[in-house]
Amino acid sequence: MSKPDKIKSARVSVLGAARSGIAVARLLRSKGASVFVSDKKPREQAGQQIQQLDEIGVQYEFGSHSDRLFDADFIVVSPGVPSNLNLVQHAIKVGLNIYSEVEVASWFCKAPIVAITGSNGKTTTTTLIGRIFENSGRKTVVAGNIGFPISDYVSGTDEDAVAVLEVSSFQLDHVDTFKPKAAVLLNITPDHLDRYENYQAYMNAKFRIFMNQTAGDIAVYNHDDDAVDKYCRDLKSTLMPFSVKDEASSTGFARDGKVYLMEKGQPVHLIDTKEIGIPGVHNLYNSLASALAARALGVKMEVIAETLHEFRGVEHRLELVRQLNGVKYINDSKATNVDAVWYALGSYDSPIVLIAGGKDKGNDYSPLFEPVRKKVRAMILIGAAAPKMQKEFSDKTKCIMATSMEDAVAKASIEARKGDVVLLSPACASFDMFQDYEHRGREFKRLVMEL
Ligand code: ADP
Repeated sequence: MSKPDKIKSARVSVLGAARSGIAVARLLRSKGASVFVSDKKPREQAGQQIQQLDEIGVQYEFGSHSDRLFDADFIVVSPGVPSNLNLVQHAIKVGLNIYSEVEVASWFCKAPIVAITGSNGKTTTTTLIGRIFENSGRKTVVAGNIGFPISDYVSGTDEDAVAVLEVSSFQLDHVDTFKPKAAVLLNITPDHLDRYENYQAYMNAKFRIFMNQTAGDIAVYNHDDDAVDKYCRDLKSTLMPFSVKDEASSTGFARDGKVYLMEKGQPVHLIDTKEIGIPGVHNLYNSLASALAARALGVKMEVIAETLHEFRGVEHRLELVRQLNGVKYINDSKATNVDAVWYALGSYDSPIVLIAGGKDKGNDYSPLFEPVRKKVRAMILIGAAAPKMQKEFSDKTKCIMATSMEDAVAKASIEARKGDVVLLSPACASFDMFQDYEHRGREFKRLVMEL
């Protein structure tokens, strides 16, 4: 069973009562299903969730998972629940279908879906595509992994609207009939290897975004990413590869400072790269992907170009905080892996004072050695990863240990000279010192503003 017409009589268990779990419980309840929510979070800490679930009118348990969970027609798992969890494995063994919240919500979504995935750039690209559609005058829902569960919005969608959805690999793990009209795959680099058996398994999860597409659907993908290109070349979907290196095989590309989209076999100039509002090659990729997806769904070239020009990016992603004494302070707190930092370093021509460190996810820092040697005046290291990073980078640049973000900002401001960039781009998770990357970014910004 996986279709709305059968939902009325369905019994559904939802595993995980975070934002998307509650949203899908609400959606399924509104469609007549009987829903049971299970979360191992202690009851005392779940006051807000309990109140919401009571309002929705579903049953629930907190503190542990009972066998009641398996007494269902299918289970919806939250993205935070690892697939290798015993509970999930048991459910699969007893023959229960397991779906993600995105899968379930898609059953009720009348609007065509533009889905975006990748290791880096999802939120930026999702926001940008959303903005392009909004500027085109189309009713637009921007949701998914970006922080607004799509389940909360599907009831209001109609065929003329568009749903722009950020999807993570965890949500893609459990899709079944999910079929985006346009699916965007930005890139794949090692991440979340703590959750997947190996890198291939992580890649396979990302590729599932295309799984149900047919020739009438569009696959927008990064031609310059070898693994992505190799896989996507053989898809049944209508292919729209983008590239900044190989224009001959691409539907969207950059050449000599200009961006082109192929229209009826001819390159049509969209915008000059220097007119794009967000910096760096990675954002050129994000811009190309966004332009192709929007164009494929009928948005005019002028609207796309105007939006690319005016869009200033998303908070905590290469965000300009302040210019002080000729030094630019940039908050890139969302750079929680090595690849994001690699692109951040490539985004500035001036010398960089880099604040990095935090909770190491088993990082291989070697891709950063060369750019750090070339561009980084000094590295200010924070958090649990600081000793490891000092060991690896001290022969590439000057490394300075800092005890807190306050200490790091102060030391960075001393190291920076006129014309430099002070860049917070940690390559690590934030959980050793902060609640999350947003907290880390806000602290950085506050301290910079106090300088
Ligand atoms: P995600 O939602 O996939 O985490 P974000 O848009 O939030 O992506 O960006 C996360 C980090 O990755 C930021 O540091 C950003 O500057 C960087 N980034 C954005 N787009 C790309 C890209 N296409 N390739 C590599 N890094 C990117």
